[in-house]
Amino acid sequence: MPVKRLFVLVVIFVLSLPVVTAQNNPTTKAREGEGIYSLLRRNHLSPSEYMDDFIRLNKSSLGKNNTLIKGKTYRLPVNNEAETKGKKDETGVFPIFGKEYQKVDFKDNQLKGAVFYIISGHGGPDPGAIGKKNGHRMCEDEYAYDIGLRLARNLLEHNATVYVVTRDPDDGIRDGKYLKCDKDEYVLGGHKIPLNQVQRLKQRTTEVNKLYKKYKGHYQRLLELHVDSRYPKENVDIFFYHYPSSKKGTALCKTLYKTIKERYAKVQPGRGYHGSIAGRKLYTLRHANPVSAYIELANINHSSRGQKRLVEVDNRQAIANWLTDGLIRDFRNSKK
Ligand SMILES: [Zn+2]
Repeated sequence: MPVKRLFVLVVIFVLSLPVVTAQNNPTTKAREGEGIYSLLRRNHLSPSEYMDDFIRLNKSSLGKNNTLIKGKTYRLPVNNEAETKGKKDETGVFPIFGKEYQKVDFKDNQLKGAVFYIISGHGGPDPGAIGKKNGHRMCEDEYAYDIGLRLARNLLEHNATVYVVTRDPDDGIRDGKYLKCDKDEYVLGGHKIPLNQVQRLKQRTTEVNKLYKKYKGHYQRLLELHVDSRYPKENVDIFFYHYPSSKKGTALCKTLYKTIKERYAKVQPGRGYHGSIAGRKLYTLRHANPVSAYIELANINHSSRGQKRLVEVDNRQAIANWLTDGLIRDFRNSKK
């Protein structure tokens, strides 16, 4: 049975913030002689699926018999179904990524059938570790979230099913150096994040485990992303934790580690990569049902390497890209 992608994330966004969502529709101008059908195709939206939505959205701007008026701006439908059918060479619209990045092109099917859960650490009342650079306050949860969104978007491009577990209603992917700290993150399902650490971790793990049952038999992986500062100073490279006895978790971490090592060797020859892999009985690794990797992406207080990895947008994107490459490998390995 082919797997359909689930975008509960979009639904929740729509349900909780109808006004914001309405404003979030991407827009386009009608061209000379263009009808709705060709306008939708031009914007990578399947006319059979989006025709009705388009008419509903633009009722007051349409001409007789739903014709388009040349030069007029029209709102494009956002995919707000619980399930969507992403196909190669099509585009989906996912407001969670923000205005600039909400359109996602489905490039290929390399991750078709794979299910991913992205948890960026902390959020809500807990900003995680806090760093300072050039007078700016840097909150761990914001940087982990930005990289998490970039990763989620990459995975979607390869036709994976992706759940963004910790979520922010209005921070999409951000290209700035310094990401504003806020506290409005919530958890998939519309849950307010509690301050208590165990309650907080339990809440997100419970949501993941509910979905896990639904995808029984599929390749499912959970990635928990952090940007902490409590680790030894020398540990400034990306490092990984898996549950000690999890063979698949160990394999996942090894594959991600290997991929990052190779990428560093390519883009910064001679730099060396000193990441590490270890088994630890951390809450998520212990309680989440999917095979999981807990990833420390950088040290938010390390003034050279750690912070540089975070404030440069290209670096945040590179981390997401390398993790994506590693996950494609892990998925392929799982089929051997
Ligand atoms: Zn953390």
